[in-house]
Amino acid sequence: MSQTHKNVTRRPLVAGNWKMYRTASDTRSLLEDIVKLVSKIATMDLVVCPPFTSLSVAAETLGRHGILALGAQNMHQNKEGAFTGEISGPMLREFGVRYVILGHSERRQYFNETDAQVAAKAQAAVGYHLRPIVCVGETLAQRDAGETTAVVTSQVRASLSGFPVDQLEELVLAYEPIWAIGTGKVATPQQANEVHLNIRKLLVKQFGSKGSDIRVIYGGSVKPDNAAELMAQPEIDGALVGGASLDAKGFFDIIESARSARASEND
Ligand code: PEP
Repeated sequence: MSQTHKNVTRRPLVAGNWKMYRTASDTRSLLEDIVKLVSKIATMDLVVCPPFTSLSVAAETLGRHGILALGAQNMHQNKEGAFTGEISGPMLREFGVRYVILGHSERRQYFNETDAQVAAKAQAAVGYHLRPIVCVGETLAQRDAGETTAVVTSQVRASLSGFPVDQLEELVLAYEPIWAIGTGKVATPQQANEVHLNIRKLLVKQFGSKGSDIRVIYGGSVKPDNAAELMAQPEIDGALVGGASLDAKGFFDIIESARSARASEND
């Protein structure tokens, strides 16, 4: 399985996670700037995940262009109910949301989200025609203790437990080493590819040959100056970008790196 070329059946995907940045009124101009830059790229899936309060204005802005898909940063697994402060899948769908980030390390760390909750959310998401971007990744202490493989293996297995096999084409996995998120410390392309390769093996073990088609993207301080090398790795199918996605040109440059990595495979 240690291929040196990308599997070209997996369409590259680059998603921007805006986290808790940008008000609704700031959202329109940032999106307009991004849309102007990316308007020629049709060979990839491009996603922006603004805060919930910006989804309405984002949907309105993007609706006119159809180049970028809209994503959310979290979702409750229930359709509705007495869950103060939560947002459900049908509520997201109403704004044209197509993707939802689940189990981001900041959700796991600050809001105590568990693998079991992530699994329930992922199953609920596909039931509402939302594509889950399920995040996994180890802490620095775990990496230093040589536990990366064990931690990521356990997260992947548990977070995807019960995921419907007939919906696997909707699933995206994001490997995000926690020590690289928002820190400026990026995993080396080799470190990242090694973990992606392990995730690929797990997916094939868990889901059979269909596991080869699931996209696994990398996140953690992806910037314009390191994206090309990361995106060139055979097992990296795209990027989940935090900080750099708040700058239109920076986000575009990362998208361009993913596009060129794919183009060079097709040459
Ligand atoms: C993220 O929020 O998923 C992320 C990877 O952030 P950053 O790119 O800022 O490290």
